[in-house]
Amino acid sequence: MQRPLLRIILGFTAAAMLAAAVFFIARKPDNAVFPGISGPEASTTVSRNVPVEWKQYDHAAPGAMAILLTNPDSSWLGLAHGLKTIGVPFRITTDVKTALQHKVVMVYPTISGKVLNQESLQALAAFPREGGTLIGFDVAGGGLEPVFGFSETGSDRSRMALHIDTNQAVTAEFTDPRERIIPLNGSKRSGDDMGVVSYSQPRFPPLATYDNGAAAILHRAVGKGHAYAIGLDIGFFLLKGYNNRQQGIARSYVNDFEPALDVLLRLLRNIYRQGEPDAVTLGTVPQAKSLSVILTHDIDYTESVRNALVYAQHEKQSGISATHFIQTKYIRDWNDDVFFKPELVDTIDRIAALGMEIASHSVSHSRVFSKFELGSGREQYPQYQPFVRDAEHTENGTVLGELRVSRFLLGHLTKGGDPVSFRPGHLQNPFSLPQALEASGFRYSSSVTANTALTHLPFRLAYGRETKAQTAIYEFPITIEDEHKPKLGDRLPQALAVADRVSRYGGLYVVLIHPNVLDHKLDFQKRLVAALKNRAWFGSLRDFGAWWTARDQITWQVQYEGRRRTLLLESPQPISDLVLQLPKHYRLVKTTPETVTTPSAGSSLLISKITGPLKLEFETAGAAP
Ligand SMILES: [Zn+2]
Repeated sequence: MQRPLLRIILGFTAAAMLAAAVFFIARKPDNAVFPGISGPEASTTVSRNVPVEWKQYDHAAPGAMAILLTNPDSSWLGLAHGLKTIGVPFRITTDVKTALQHKVVMVYPTISGKVLNQESLQALAAFPREGGTLIGFDVAGGGLEPVFGFSETGSDRSRMALHIDTNQAVTAEFTDPRERIIPLNGSKRSGDDMGVVSYSQPRFPPLATYDNGAAAILHRAVGKGHAYAIGLDIGFFLLKGYNNRQQGIARSYVNDFEPALDVLLRLLRNIYRQGEPDAVTLGTVPQAKSLSVILTHDIDYTESVRNALVYAQHEKQSGISATHFIQTKYIRDWNDDVFFKPELVDTIDRIAALGMEIASHSVSHSRVFSKFELGSGREQYPQYQPFVRDAEHTENGTVLGELRVSRFLLGHLTKGGDPVSFRPGHLQNPFSLPQALEASGFRYSSSVTANTALTHLPFRLAYGRETKAQTAIYEFPITIEDEHKPKLGDRLPQALAVADRVSRYGGLYVVLIHPNVLDHKLDFQKRLVAALKNRAWFGSLRDFGAWWTARDQITWQVQYEGRRRTLLLESPQPISDLVLQLPKHYRLVKTTPETVTTPSAGSSLLISKITGPLKLEFETAGAAP
C-alpha cells in the first residue's frame, strides 16, 4: 500500500509521462514526413522601412499628367500607385513651371497661400484660361476660389458618402448605382474617420456632392480649359483600400460589386483624356478582353487534395491555367491531420504537369496568422513546428516561417517550381506581410477580398500596409468565394452579374473554389468558364502577375511634329497582348521594330509583343497640334 504522499508523487509522474507521450505522439511523426529533407538553407532578411522618394516618379514625359506636389508628407504614394493601376502616365514635381509644361496639372494634396507663393498661384490661376486643365485638391484659399467657381472652403469629418452627378462628360459612364454613390466612412464613428472639404456657393452644378448636399467636386469649363476642385483626398482614400484599413466603408465583404476606388481612378483618367488631346493610357486586361479571370483553389484539407486534380483536369480541358494554393501541412494539430506527404507530392506534380500554378497557402493555416511575430528569417523544415492548438492559439508560428518553409517545401519537393504566389489561411493579413513576402521570394499576393479593398483592380502593396514605403509585391484581391450561403452551385447568376459589372471597365475577377467537394462546385466552375470564355482572359495568378508587373514598369511619352505623333514606349520586361487606349484622331502609320497590331474597340490598339523600346508613329486627323 502506498502512502498518500508517494501516491501523489507517482500520480504526478504518471500524468507527466502521459502528457509527454501525447506530446511525443502529436509531434513525432512530423519530422519523419520527408526524411532527410531540411531547409531552406539561406536566411531571409526583411528590408528596412525606407520611405520612397517622390523623385522616383519624376520622369520627364511629354503628354503625361503632372502632379504638382505641394506637401511631400502626404498620401501621394496612394495616388501614384492608383494612377499606375489605371494606366495614366504621370510625373511628380514640386516645381510649378515644370508642372505647367503639361496640359493636365493636378495640385496635390492642397492649394493654398501657405504652400505656394503668389507668383505660383497666379500662374496656376491663369492655366485654365490658357486651355490647360487644373485639378486642385483641398483648395484652401490662395485667392483661387473664382478659378474653380466657389466662395469658401469648409472641412467636415462626418460625411458618409459622395454622390456623383452623371450628367457631365467625365462622369457619364458611372451608371451603376454603386458607382454613383461612393461610401466615405463606416457607420461606426471612429477617430480615424476620413475628413473632407466642401466648397460653398458653387457657381455651377457640382460634379459630386456629399450626403448632406454640400459640393465635393467642382468643374468649371473655361473656354477650352477646365478647372476641377476636389474635396476628397483621393491619395489617402486609395491607401485606405490598398492597405486594407477601410474600417467599415465597404458595402459588402465578398461576392459583390464595390468599385469605390475604381470610380475615382476612372474619373481622373477621364479628366486626363479630356484635357490632353494626346492622351495614351494602358489597358488593364490582356488581349483586349473585357475581364481578367483568375481561378484559384485553396487546398487546406485532406480530402481536397485528390479533388484538386479533377478541377485541374477541367481547367486543362478548357485551355486555361489556374492557381492551386497548397497548405504544406506536415504537423497534425487542431486543424487537421498531416496531408503534405509524398503521396500528395505526386498529385501536385500531376496538377503542375497540367500547366497549373502551384502556390503557397502557408504551413499552419492558423486563424491567428495576422498576430504572428515576424520571425527570425532562419526558420527551417523540419525544426519549424507551428502548432495550432485551437482557433485562438497557435504556438511557434512566425510570418517568415510560414512563408519560407512552405515555399521551400513546394519548390524543393514538387515539380511546380519555386512558388511566387501566396494566400494566407482565412485571409489573415499581418501588417508585416508585404515586406515578408518580398523578402521570402514571393511576388504576388491574393490575401484580401476585392470588396474590402474597395477595388476590382490589382494594386501594389505598401510596406507594413502603411503610407510611406512600397514593396515589389502586387495584390490581386478575391472577387468570388465559395463559403458564403447559398451554396456556390446555386449562385452562378449572381456571380455572373458581378462579372458583368466589373467587366464594364476591365476589372479583375479572382474566383476562390475550395476543392473539398466536386459536385456543385465543379459544376459552377464549368458553367462559369463556359459563360465567360469568349469575353474574358483566363490565366493563373503567376501569368497575370507577370503581365501586370511588366505593365507597371512601362514608360511612354508622345512627341509632336505637325500632324505627326510619335509614341515612344519602353518596356523593361517583355510583355504580350497589351492594349493602348489612343486618342480618336490617331491613325497608325508605322511601328519600329515591326510588331503585329490589331485595332480594337474604342480606338484602342492591341500590341502582340513588346520587348524593350517600341516606336509607334501616327498621323492625326484634324487635331490642333
Ligand atoms: Zn484555406
